[in-house]
Amino acid sequence: MGIPYRDQARRDRGVNLGDAPVHQLRAQAGEDTIRERLRQGRLPREAAQLVSAGAGSGLPCAGCGQEILHTDQQWECEVDGCRLQFHQVCYLVWDEERDRTER
Ligand SMILES: [Zn+2]
Repeated sequence: MGIPYRDQARRDRGVNLGDAPVHQLRAQAGEDTIRERLRQGRLPREAAQLVSAGAGSGLPCAGCGQEILHTDQQWECEVDGCRLQFHQVCYLVWDEERDRTER
């Protein structure tokens, strides 16, 4: 009775706000994929060198696997001589997760 409804809503909001600022962007969907790929070694843990940032080229994102649309920001980096394309948000998530899982 009473307020469980509102209680639940507040708890949900608390969870979201408690996380890192990147999470407030629209990375939620890709985030699990990125973490999973890091765990499986499908994404490098080495520090990447950012090569370019610009409009999406339509290539699949190395993080979430979704196409990087022309309306998205695409960040391209180089790791071990390999070029990787990311959504801007995915790059940030990857960068953060890479750091976290290393320790
Ligand atoms: Zn992505």
